[in-house]
Amino acid sequence: MNEVLSRLVAGFDQSAIFIALYDQFDRLRYANAAFRSAFFIEEHEEPTWPEIMRRNFEAGRGTVLRIGNFDEWLISTQSRRGKIAFRAYETDLVDGRWLWMKESVLDDGWMLCVASDITALHAHTRDLRQDRDSAVKVAYTDELTGVANRRFVMARIEDMLRRQGATGGPVGCLAILDIDNFKTINDRYGHPAGDQILRALASTISSGLRRVDCFGRVGGEEFVLVMPRTDGNEAVLILERMLARVRVSQPLKDHRDLRITFSAGVTEAASEDIALSLYARADKALYQAKMLGRNCIVLSAGGEEDLSANG
Ligand code: GH3
Ligand code: MG
Ligand code: MG
Repeated sequence: MNEVLSRLVAGFDQSAIFIALYDQFDRLRYANAAFRSAFFIEEHEEPTWPEIMRRNFEAGRGTVLRIGNFDEWLISTQSRRGKIAFRAYETDLVDGRWLWMKESVLDDGWMLCVASDITALHAHTRDLRQDRDSAVKVAYTDELTGVANRRFVMARIEDMLRRQGATGGPVGCLAILDIDNFKTINDRYGHPAGDQILRALASTISSGLRRVDCFGRVGGEEFVLVMPRTDGNEAVLILERMLARVRVSQPLKDHRDLRITFSAGVTEAASEDIALSLYARADKALYQAKMLGRNCIVLSAGGEEDLSANG
């Protein structure tokens, strides 16, 4: 096996295909020579994917990004990156090459990327394919905040429930987050300021997410967090950390003293759950959190009466 492995690695380095492996924190743990050369990665470094993208963007090399603001682009892209078991897309490099990139997310959250050079292929239908890709992206993105939208999040809940039982551990958790007293904030600071708060909240939460988790906006001031293979207690800890960060954040540039909080209902998926039952239970726990005075997290362990508060 060792011999096969070392030949495989040596073979990868001589091959024209691009191969990379990222861990669950999106840190590059392996890349073959072609990949390292295309994305300007030294042989022994292990940068994270955002680091690779940022430094190449700043140096004007690597992937072509038709964007104005790198941080906004990153939040939006990360909210959809690595959330689906398999994804394939076309991407172009600043040096003129076109790659056909395939991403497989493994059960433990690691991600294998394999790409091939398709520069010579079907150049005349490329615009059409790019238009299709950007239409798909729009269909899954919340326009105001740039994070995933309801359609994308609901599909991830279905994925989580479908994959249950495969590894024996917990299926996962669903949380619904709702900003506290948002109507009052809107009334006091105006609707545009409210929008700015929604964007700031999405950004604060996105920057602290594990890659396996999917965060999206599902309605006005309501957000959802899907946490596959996570038990209820772990989910509560994750949400408490989020709430702690949100409490001290300064979402309005012109009103630095303004603080916001959210309430969240979280529930652990059981084997008999469908997306609707899971959602209804998380919603009920959210209602409990509001009843308890807001600014807290309520875990519903699954049973009707089994609610406990945190935060
Ligand atoms: P609670 O703590 O019980 O959640 O109170 P709340 O005021 O946050 O809840 P409520 O549902 O009464 O009000 C939600 C408000 O969110 C009402 C609506 O004006 C505002 N809202 C919904 N969507 C948007 C949006 O896209 N932008 C802005 N600025 N406000 C929005
Ligand atoms: Mg609401
Ligand atoms: Mg609210």
